[in-house]
Amino acid sequence: MKLLLVGAGLSGAVIGRHLAEAGHQITILEARDHVAGNCHTARDADTGVMVHVYGPHIFHTDDAQVWDYVNGFARFVPFKNRVKTTARGQVFSLPINLHTINQFYGQTLRPDAARAFIEAQADTSITDPQTFEEQALRFVGPDLYEAFFKGYTIKQWGLHPSALPAAILKRLPVRFNYDDNYFAHRFQGMPEHGYTAMVTAILDHPGITVHLNTRFTRDQADAYDHVFYAGPLDGWFDYELGRLGYRTLDFEPFRYEGDYQGCAVMNYGEEDVPYTRITEHKHFSPWEEHAGSILYREYSRACGADDIPYYPIRQVREKALLRDYVALAEQTQGVTFVGRLGTYRYLDMDVTIREALDTADAFLRDGSAPAFVHAPL
Ligand code: UDP
Repeated sequence: MKLLLVGAGLSGAVIGRHLAEAGHQITILEARDHVAGNCHTARDADTGVMVHVYGPHIFHTDDAQVWDYVNGFARFVPFKNRVKTTARGQVFSLPINLHTINQFYGQTLRPDAARAFIEAQADTSITDPQTFEEQALRFVGPDLYEAFFKGYTIKQWGLHPSALPAAILKRLPVRFNYDDNYFAHRFQGMPEHGYTAMVTAILDHPGITVHLNTRFTRDQADAYDHVFYAGPLDGWFDYELGRLGYRTLDFEPFRYEGDYQGCAVMNYGEEDVPYTRITEHKHFSPWEEHAGSILYREYSRACGADDIPYYPIRQVREKALLRDYVALAEQTQGVTFVGRLGTYRYLDMDVTIREALDTADAFLRDGSAPAFVHAPL
């Protein structure tokens, strides 16, 4: 069959490869001038450092099949993300771990004592935390919440943590040991030559044609047997019901001779520091040597019509609108909505790949695919 994929990010590349290998003829349209979507990497001409152009992306997964898949297209170098945060004039370790707790409270607690100590700070009257704030107050108590999460989250989401779902904070563990690995997954690494090289390798198949700098319009769908659309769900419908809200990011690059901050990601927990974090890209490739350094100060704001969407907001208003778009999508034939933008969800890279493989498998099994293989709601 002749199949059209909109978007050459992880979803488009993985679905395209899988279907091309099954003998289908794949055309991919990508609006930007590069593949790999928001995990795009490129070398900085001045320093030679591999830059995560749209912000930090660390590959981590518990899914052995997904890990094998990505290792089939890139050599991964073991990498652990050890994030720090600056707050109250000190540098602390994240995610909150025994070192963070002992430093913050000036203690020398061992694991069991720390657990009891934090439990005594926690608001145990919250039995079923719904909001980000309730989740924080229940599991770390007010002091750590105020220092590390409240200001950062207000900057990141433009909303008070009492208006955000608990799920956002559930991304971060609280540990009563000295494990400072940001992620708890079994497999973690960085592609040796960057994500764009990996995605380029996935797309390197005679059955796949990629057109960069090519904005999709809906009439183009008519020439194909089926479309997999990884663009914004509301964009498919020309935003006829209104726009689904996103946060976008602005990066303010700066350079430094030497090592500026000693780690890849330094968060800033306080609200009066206008940026959320500073990324020093060369620390994502510790096996490379670079005298110069390039860093990004990262600012978050509401996403306008011409901005690049990053984080779906998924608040009450957006969810109501999402329901209406899902209803429209379900009446639409011949298109499957995929990925972070197509299903309006906060997806990590490994989940995106898992879902892309499942989507392609479903299509191969059934000879067609519904509007959603993975439900947005
Ligand atoms: N967060 C926070 N303080 C931090 C780091 C994270 O309050 O120092 C909150 C914030 O609301 C963020 C969420 O935890 O959106 C998830 O953090 P994660 O590091 O997973 O975000 P990402 O790297 O995907 O932007």
